[in-house]
Amino acid sequence: MEILSAKDALKLWKNASWGELAAEAHKRRVEIHGKKNVSYTVFRIINYTNVCKIACSFCSFKNTKPYTLPKKEIISTALAAKKQGADAIFFQGGVNPAIPLDYYIEIINTLSKKLKFKVRGFSPVELFHIAKNNKMPLPELLQKLKKAGLSSVPGAGAEIMTSRMRKILAPNKLSAKDWMSVMEECHKAGLPGSANVVIGSSETPEEIIEHLNYVREVQNKTEGFQSFIPWVFQPQTKNFPIRHVRSEEYIKLVALCRLFFHNIPNIEVSVLGMGKVLGELALYAGANDISSVVLEERVMRSQGVGSIEEAEEFIKNAGFKPVRRGVNY
Ligand code: SF4
Repeated sequence: MEILSAKDALKLWKNASWGELAAEAHKRRVEIHGKKNVSYTVFRIINYTNVCKIACSFCSFKNTKPYTLPKKEIISTALAAKKQGADAIFFQGGVNPAIPLDYYIEIINTLSKKLKFKVRGFSPVELFHIAKNNKMPLPELLQKLKKAGLSSVPGAGAEIMTSRMRKILAPNKLSAKDWMSVMEECHKAGLPGSANVVIGSSETPEEIIEHLNYVREVQNKTEGFQSFIPWVFQPQTKNFPIRHVRSEEYIKLVALCRLFFHNIPNIEVSVLGMGKVLGELALYAGANDISSVVLEERVMRSQGVGSIEEAEEFIKNAGFKPVRRGVNY
């Protein structure tokens, strides 16, 4: 398979039309996944705490009343999700130094061993700080979490990994280098996951490609990313510059990701973030997966697919065959 250089990717991003890129990306997607299959999964996101000392400019956590969910509430949310068909929990929160390590271990243990969920959890920034707060080397923490039942780690919190954008978005968050080394440790520990890019601020085309290249380099070493998810910033706070991302730009991004990541098999489209019309188009521009049915808040559900039936109907209406997958593919 031809490997697209960063230089050529930048040229395509600047000069190619979205239609050209989408057609090429669709061909590549058909080579890898066939013409028909589009996958989806069913997990419940549980934001266990909204207390976070990092204070990223785009994050809305700080605007809400502080909480840390008690174990009982997490279990009852998980059980309700099971009734709706979920087989995985996506466990994520802020960087809250007041939470003891036992809290995480006990909850993951219960979710995975007693309730039989797959547990995907923690962004690299959370893992970095949990290890630091517990004065524990990261590999040791990862082994403890894995033993408790953690099965994968989302590569969240990457957004755009260049030092200029880091300063605007999240000066206190992990540097690109630290983000990559946490992900590498996760992959080494047998905890695979995903990675993403988020556009729609003041990033430049060069920075988008630099970001994609970082992720591809990690993947060349570890092969731990199972999927890649192109996203756009959602308006959450007023402290952060957001621009409108036109549909053609988003589709172009999906297509470029498919063509650039010769080494990551799955490209996910966020129907929740982008809506059904654009979600459907993305399936003809390189994406082969629609991520999870949304079992969360009503307000978010109005955009995404809110049940297994709705996910399957959406995929069929788009002209594909729905295939349910596990959270780890
Ligand atoms: S690290 Fe995550 S939870 Fe904390 S402020 Fe940043 S985006 Fe929000």
